[in-house]
Amino acid sequence: YFISNEQIYGDRLDIRGDDVHHIARVMRMNTGDRLLCCNEDGQTALCKIEEISNDFVRCRIIEWIQVDVELPAHVYIANGLLKGDKFELVIQKGTELGAFSFIPLKAARSVVKWDEKKGDKKIERWQKIAKEAAEQSHRTRIPSIFSPLSIEQLIEWSRDVDYKIIAYEEEAKRGERKQLKNILRQLQRGQSIVAVFGPEGGFSEQEVAMLKENGFISCSLGPRILRAETAPLYFLSAVSYELEF
Ligand code: SAM
Repeated sequence: YFISNEQIYGDRLDIRGDDVHHIARVMRMNTGDRLLCCNEDGQTALCKIEEISNDFVRCRIIEWIQVDVELPAHVYIANGLLKGDKFELVIQKGTELGAFSFIPLKAARSVVKWDEKKGDKKIERWQKIAKEAAEQSHRTRIPSIFSPLSIEQLIEWSRDVDYKIIAYEEEAKRGERKQLKNILRQLQRGQSIVAVFGPEGGFSEQEVAMLKENGFISCSLGPRILRAETAPLYFLSAVSYELEF
């Protein structure tokens, strides 16, 4: 369970909110049972439940333990806004695969337009999906979800990122294969990489040109054209394979 630092006091901590229901009703845990809690700094505490009420689960911290499950590099997934609940799928599965953050992109060919009025609610929902996926995959960090950026804002934001790539379907059609492998082989522990993915209709030529002018390298993800929601998941799997095996 993820907790904020203010929920910890000495060798005790209180779990609050929806997690109380999850612990008591879904997991049917009782006093004496053990569970793992993760603080805002990604540190994990092995805890024993001392008290369960309607509002909180009070635990004693037995010990702080070392859990090493995060991808060694920070992987930012910048994805064109997608139709229906496909973006939710990218967040849920991408979290399981170790993404550091998700950046929704207002891409030229995104059919879905961002509704500023409903935007906050949507990001809140996406953040909840990321939290639940992080918990179920035993991660020590919940990926952050950015407010949607334009391509120009993405370029500005990415100035300090170590590696920047565009997953570009035209590279796949051209038969380019080596670029992604070369970049992933150079990627070191602690470095950052941002990968940009188009929406269902792909990128406009102008977007690709702008990104390339600003240091983004265009890559193929192999000979098959993947669904917009499959491409970032393929990429995260490739990063994991390169860095963790
Ligand atoms: N029309 C399908 C759909 O509705 O999902 C395919 C969409 S594909 C054009 C969407 C994005 O996935 C592309 O802009 C690109 O970022 C990425 N993509 C898919 N297959 C790829 C490949 N083989 N190489 C590089 N990028 C790819």
